[in-house]
Amino acid sequence: MMNIIELENQYTSGLYTKRPIAIVRGKGARLWDAEGKEYIDCVGGQGAANIGHANPAVAAAIAAQAQTLISCPEMFYNDRRALLEQRLCEISGFPRVFLCNSGTEANEAAIKFARLATGKSQIVACMRGFHGRTMGALSATWEKKYREPFEPLVPGFQHVPFNRPEALEEAIRENTAAFVVEIVQGEGGVNPASTEFLIRAEQLCRERGALLIVDEVQTGFGRTGKMFAYQHHPIRPDLVCLAKSIAGGFPMGAVLIGEAVGELPPQVHGSTFGGNPLACAAALASIDYMLAHHLPQRAQELGTWFLQALSQIQSPLIREVRGLGLMAGVELKQKVTPYLQALMQEGVLALPAGLTVMRFLPPLVIEPADLEIVIEVLQRVLREG
Ligand SMILES: *Cc1c(COP(=O)(O)O)cnc(C)c1O
Repeated sequence: MMNIIELENQYTSGLYTKRPIAIVRGKGARLWDAEGKEYIDCVGGQGAANIGHANPAVAAAIAAQAQTLISCPEMFYNDRRALLEQRLCEISGFPRVFLCNSGTEANEAAIKFARLATGKSQIVACMRGFHGRTMGALSATWEKKYREPFEPLVPGFQHVPFNRPEALEEAIRENTAAFVVEIVQGEGGVNPASTEFLIRAEQLCRERGALLIVDEVQTGFGRTGKMFAYQHHPIRPDLVCLAKSIAGGFPMGAVLIGEAVGELPPQVHGSTFGGNPLACAAALASIDYMLAHHLPQRAQELGTWFLQALSQIQSPLIREVRGLGLMAGVELKQKVTPYLQALMQEGVLALPAGLTVMRFLPPLVIEPADLEIVIEVLQRVLREG
């Protein structure tokens, strides 16, 4: 058999630190490697697999659309795109939507829309925030390791401490175009935003003529127990960035556009692949599946159980357990890499969020019995550590 790992090591960019297994198949919340070993998946495609791997409804929609029409730029209208735009607006209550291909592109578009709509240039983002790796989204991202090699970045960005409402006062000003925030910081360590922080941010944006951009690339589509995580709080964003689980794991991004954004002039932004019928068909099937199977509610119920069970694990290694819905973080007093490796040995895949936080993003269709196994294994791994 060809050696997958050797092949990739020879030809890949080298940008990724990879684990030494080759994943070749999935079903629901289970994955299999090339040697046939089975895993419980709490990586969940880094948040792209909310409806589970190889979801039959989405697979069928993609297959049917692939045989009908794959490419159709937005210079034409399209049946799948029309229905998806309607569906996204129906489930969010937003009046309009822009379609693109990834999370970073959604953030890039939201930043451009905010500058266009306000005629101002300053963007305020949060420390530990993550918004993507293209130059605009990267300028809003906090982590030095991602930013420093690529400076100078886009001018006009600044970062404020997360969850410190008093720090917003000075940062959001008359020349601010937008404040960008995740409702639960994902890459930054699974940190839920406080209601107080979000309300203050919204108030200051309204007062000073700035727009509120919520990055729901990771928290959207049921992950936190609501369709969108901002719905846990009494706020109303002006722009909402979406991607990851929007199309059942198929690459797609979107920006929900609120009334305050006003008219966007034709031609100032766009994307060749944005709104292509294949991605739209996948997204329609995926959203229908989430609604039909009440996945946000399922995430709420399973997540409550899971976070409770995590917080009952007795281990001197654990500093804190936090999360929202089925987005869970376990902060250790030391680096998580060896423990993630031990989990993998035991058939559980999880991911880091920074150096000391273990992050669990299982598909929302995961069986309760599988979550129980995750707890058992974690208990063992953290005890032996
Ligand atoms: C993953 C992520 C992004 C970037 O998405 P890509 O599709 O990798 O470009 C942006 N924001 C948040 C909150 C994310 O979790």
